[in-house]
Amino acid sequence: MTHRIPVTALPVDDSPKDECGVLGLSTPHGEGVAQLSFFGLFALQHRGQEAAGIAVSDGKRARVHKEAGLVANVFTPEALAPLTGYHAIGHTRYSTTGSNADRNIQPFLVETMHGPLALAHNGNLVNAPALRDELLNRGFGLTATSDSEVLTLMLAAAGGQTWQERLERTLPAWKGAFSLVLLAADQVIAVRDPWGFRPLSIGRLPHGGHAVASETCALSTLGCVDIDEVRPGEMVTLMGAEVHRSQVLAPQPRGARCTFEFVYFSRPDSVWDGRNVHHVRQRLGVQLAHEAPADADVVIPVPDSSIPAAIGYSNQSGIPFNDGLIKNRYIGRTFIEPTQDIRERGVALKFNALRENLEGKRVVMIDDSLVRGTTAGPLVKLVRDAGATEVHVRITCPPITHACHFGVDMGHDGDLIAGHLSVEEIREHIGADSLAFLSLDGMMLAVAERESSDDDGYCNACFTGRYPIHVGDAQAKLSFEGVLA
Ligand code: SF4
Repeated sequence: MTHRIPVTALPVDDSPKDECGVLGLSTPHGEGVAQLSFFGLFALQHRGQEAAGIAVSDGKRARVHKEAGLVANVFTPEALAPLTGYHAIGHTRYSTTGSNADRNIQPFLVETMHGPLALAHNGNLVNAPALRDELLNRGFGLTATSDSEVLTLMLAAAGGQTWQERLERTLPAWKGAFSLVLLAADQVIAVRDPWGFRPLSIGRLPHGGHAVASETCALSTLGCVDIDEVRPGEMVTLMGAEVHRSQVLAPQPRGARCTFEFVYFSRPDSVWDGRNVHHVRQRLGVQLAHEAPADADVVIPVPDSSIPAAIGYSNQSGIPFNDGLIKNRYIGRTFIEPTQDIRERGVALKFNALRENLEGKRVVMIDDSLVRGTTAGPLVKLVRDAGATEVHVRITCPPITHACHFGVDMGHDGDLIAGHLSVEEIREHIGADSLAFLSLDGMMLAVAERESSDDDGYCNACFTGRYPIHVGDAQAKLSFEGVLA
C-alpha cells in the first residue's frame, strides 16, 4: 500500500455524499477473480470516490490491496497481479464514519484463530459507539476509526464453529444500516440488515460462480444472470459453484429502504425493489410537473442525476426539454488543492451554461435535492448570466430537514438549509423566480407507486425526522477521531 496525499473534494458540490459500494464474488475456477472484482467496483465508482480496495483468498491465504483514489487509479495491472484466488470482496469508499484516513480504507483484513477474515461494509450502525466501547473494555486494540473495524473484530472474537454461526450470534447486536460482504479462506458471505436500508443484490456469473453487489449495475457489468435482491435480514454464502441463502434475522415489521437511493444515489440502470431507477426518476419529474407547474419555454436538468426527472417534467408539462448546463464529469475529486481563485469560481469550474439554449428563455431548472443550498444560487446566476429571463427551480424530493444516521453524509441538522429557512426564504437565498419541492406523497407515489405512510417499507427520515430506529446514540462522523488523531 503506497501513501498518497489526501483526496480533496472540489468546493462545488451540494449533493449528499455517496455512501460506499460493496462487491463479493466466488468462482469454482479462479480465473480472473481480481479483474472481475475490478470491473464490478468500476461500476460502483459513483458510490464512493475516496478510496477503493479488493481482498482475494486462494482457499488458504488472503491478500488485500487498497488505497486512496479512484478505482482506475488504485488498481494498476501490477496491483492486481498478486490478487489470485477463488473468492474476493471489494469496496469503494466515501467516509461516513471515520475520516478519509488511510487506516479506514476497506476491506479490513485480519488474521483470526479461524483463518483470514476480511470485511467491507456499506451503511452506518447507530450503536457503533457502544459496541466500540465494549470491545475496548474487553481489551481489544483498535487501529481505525470506522464502525466497519468494530464489526470485523466482533466477528473475529465471536464463538461458533463456522462463520455463519459467528454471524448469527453477532448480528442481533448490530443496530442500523449494513449491507456487508465478508471474505473467509474458502467463501464469501453477504448480509443485509433487517430494515433493508441499503441495497444489495445477487446474480449468477456467466462462467460459473456467483456475485453480490450493492447495485445491479455492477452485476450486469459482470454479465450476471438470474439477478435477485438479497432480502432484508438475509445471509448469502458463495462457495465456488454453490450458493446458500438463509433468513438469519427476521425482517423488521417497518422496512426502511433508503428513498434517496432512487432520488439521487443509485445509477439509473440499477434495479431495486423491482423498480428501475431511471424510470422512478422520470416519474418524480412527472409528479413534480403535476404539483408545481411553471409558465416556461424550456426544461433543463442539473446534470447528471436530474436528467430523467427533467425528461419526465417535460413530457408531462409539454415544455420542451433541452440541455442548459454542461457538466465536467471528471471533476469530482482531485489530489490537487484548489487555489482561492478557483474556490471562488466554484460552480463555473464544474458547469458551463449553454447560452444558445437559454438566451431570452423562461427556464425550469430541475435538481434532485437541496442540502446545504450552496450550489443552487450560483447555478441560477449562471443560467441568468447566459440570458435566461426567468429561472424556476423545481426539486424532485421534499426539503431535507434532518441528518441521515444510516450511511449518507448530509452534514448535521444545522447544516441543512431547509432545516432553518422556509421555502420562500430559500427561493430568495438562491435568487430564483420560483421554487418548489416535490411533496412527500408525490415522491412516494413516484418511488413506491403508493401514498406515503410510516410503514410503507421506505425510510424518509431526512425529510420527516421520523427515524425508523432510535438514533440517540448515533455518533457524528468524526467522533472516534479524537483518540487516534
Ligand atoms: S435518512 Fe434519508 S438518506 Fe438516510 S437512509 Fe433515510 S431516506 Fe436515506
